[in-house]
Amino acid sequence: MGAGKVSIRHVHKAYGAFKALDGISLDIYPGEFLTLLGPSGSGKTTLLNVIAGFERPDSGSLMVDDVEFITRPPHKRDLGMVFQNYALFPHMDVFDNVAYPLKLRGIDRESIRNRVMGALETVHMDKLEARRIGELSGGQRQRVALARAIVFEPKILLMDEPLSALDKNLREHMQMELKRLHNRLGMTTVYVTHDQQEALTMSDRIAVLDRGRVVQLDTPQNIYDHPNCKFVAGFMGETRFLPVEWRDNSYHLGNRSLRLASQPYCDVNGWLIVRPERLRWAGNAQRDNRIAGKIMDIVYRGDSHLISVSLAGNHEISIRHTGLEGKELPVPGQEIELWLTPEASVVVGDAVQ
Ligand code: ATP
Repeated sequence: MGAGKVSIRHVHKAYGAFKALDGISLDIYPGEFLTLLGPSGSGKTTLLNVIAGFERPDSGSLMVDDVEFITRPPHKRDLGMVFQNYALFPHMDVFDNVAYPLKLRGIDRESIRNRVMGALETVHMDKLEARRIGELSGGQRQRVALARAIVFEPKILLMDEPLSALDKNLREHMQMELKRLHNRLGMTTVYVTHDQQEALTMSDRIAVLDRGRVVQLDTPQNIYDHPNCKFVAGFMGETRFLPVEWRDNSYHLGNRSLRLASQPYCDVNGWLIVRPERLRWAGNAQRDNRIAGKIMDIVYRGDSHLISVSLAGNHEISIRHTGLEGKELPVPGQEIELWLTPEASVVVGDAVQ
């Protein structure tokens, strides 16, 4: 028997003629941290709301631990939820906010006290139990919302952009805390974000959504290194695309044959993914996968320099270069040759392969 297994099959949801969910099928394993990642309007929140029971799909099924959930009202699903705006009760103090789900379930006072203090300790808020919500910072409110979501020990935790209201430093800190909390408590977690870095950092697997469909479902590393189409590649990181042609049994960039780590498909023209951190200066030793260009500009990024390079055919790519501090920098107008390691040379098509 699974604990916290979610199976979604052929789920459709339309608003008028607009298909918000267009045939979603997805299995979420017990204890896994799965992120729904996609641009604005791709259907992430709608799918989370279907799992939570706030939206009824037009068709399809939703099973939790092999029990049909579609017809079950939200309050009978026993799911923990954390929203972007926290949805805390402003007139109550921290303790009462966290105690709320337990009171709803008719739990006795002493158990409530123990469990609330336990949950507050988990999120490092046990010293602030008597504070009013209005007297808390954004990060502290987020922790209270999290404590309220986990206090009744749900098997499944749903989170909709819970960190997006926080500033960058606090957001990155909370990402690590959430990840550790998940490792410790082990509940199935479905997390919505449009932030690629957040998804890569936190998830066991990522489902990339586009226009109401799951276009790729895989581990963060596979999603990043082996995107299955141009959309996923473009959505993950600073990506440029160079058109490549399939002829004489290999891909060609202009008249150069490319050596790829693996051949994704053949007979079809595609796009070479070029990411700044995967490019190198070409030394004399590298004969394959060289790209010649001219430096346009150099920008200091703190931990590195980002160098923009124009290529023949009106294309532009960038290379991230570390270790240039204190050295003579290359100058705009300089001709350079870059090298794409075969491991970093991935070709994708317009459609999912
Ligand atoms: P965001 O990152 O902006 O929150 P999302 O991926 O979560 O986006 P959804 O909120 O799931 O996207 O919305 C998917 C699409 O469905 C959007 O185009 C949205 O306008 C539309 N939509 C959502 N709810 C409704 C509704 N109640 N009525 C009409 N259209 C809706």
